[in-house]
Amino acid sequence: MARCEVCGNEYDKTFEVVAAGKRHIFDSFECAIHKMAPVCEHCGCKVIGHGVEVSGRFFCCAHCARETAGTTAVRDRVEAPV
Ligand SMILES: [Zn+2]
Ligand SMILES: [Zn+2]
Repeated sequence: MARCEVCGNEYDKTFEVVAAGKRHIFDSFECAIHKMAPVCEHCGCKVIGHGVEVSGRFFCCAHCARETAGTTAVRDRVEAPV
């Protein structure tokens, strides 16, 4: 039995996540996301997909990256070379 470090639940199906050399214990993905997921700098939502990183800053999507990081390099869609 281990204890979730977010909500304190003692549960037999907790799991470990190792990030940046630190070990974390959670009872659910929801708690893991709450603790570990980066937050979009523009809209404040948790980035639980791949997200977008611009110069070390995290965003949930290309639109948020463009709005806040002032870059036009990040796009949802580009034309593939023919
Ligand atoms: Zn928990
Ligand atoms: Zn966002």
